[in-house]
Amino acid sequence: MTVPQSSGVAIGTIVLPLSNVHVVLGRYPMLVDTGAPGDIVELRHGLRQLGVRLEDVRCAVVTHGHSDHAGGARVLQRLGIKIVAGTGDLWRELRGVHGHLTSTGGLFALFLKLLVPGHYQPFWPDVRVRDRYDLRPLCGVDGEVIAMPGHTAGSVVVLLAGGKVAMVGDLFRGGALAGYVHPSEPKEHFFQDDLALVHRQIHALLARGVEVFVLGHGGPSRRDDVIRVFGLKD
Ligand SMILES: [Zn+2]
Repeated sequence: MTVPQSSGVAIGTIVLPLSNVHVVLGRYPMLVDTGAPGDIVELRHGLRQLGVRLEDVRCAVVTHGHSDHAGGARVLQRLGIKIVAGTGDLWRELRGVHGHLTSTGGLFALFLKLLVPGHYQPFWPDVRVRDRYDLRPLCGVDGEVIAMPGHTAGSVVVLLAGGKVAMVGDLFRGGALAGYVHPSEPKEHFFQDDLALVHRQIHALLARGVEVFVLGHGGPSRRDDVIRVFGLKD
């Protein structure tokens, strides 16, 4: 499933080896997440296939400070792209550390822990989001970033299309085998700093009326499927 045209936003997705990078096609193209360290060649290639030049990108939102999402931020920043990130993960980003992971269970999580790099190039985000941030003036995208801690303390969500589309990073993941099978099926992510808070955030997004969830791994997922898997607020 791709993000439906009816949602009023165009989003392209580049599936990198460890995570997705999305490009929101607003007045200027905007990236959501930056891949893992060393992904820049593949990222450039994926953008070219979508008809986007990296030179035209103004902003990249880093959904959180894990290395498979923040790993390319410094490279992009050096190209003049403004990096937008949540304040709660600054300690990670300033040191370029993936940090401790709290597993939600399963052997595959252990295996993944070994795959994801422990370090990445440190960076100081140009925009640090404590609460919310309007993307229009700087990034040319009709949407906002809101702080949604849970996966990590600094996790943020990008809301588009008047709140109908939420780009949620690792709030949950899609599909089996890292999203390669049934990618739209919502699943608990392998690692969550605060699982109870994550569930509250998913319920809060449903309560706001989000219809489409764009994910860091697999996805996107539809509202009905998210309700089926995670339920509504109890
Ligand atoms: Zn993560």
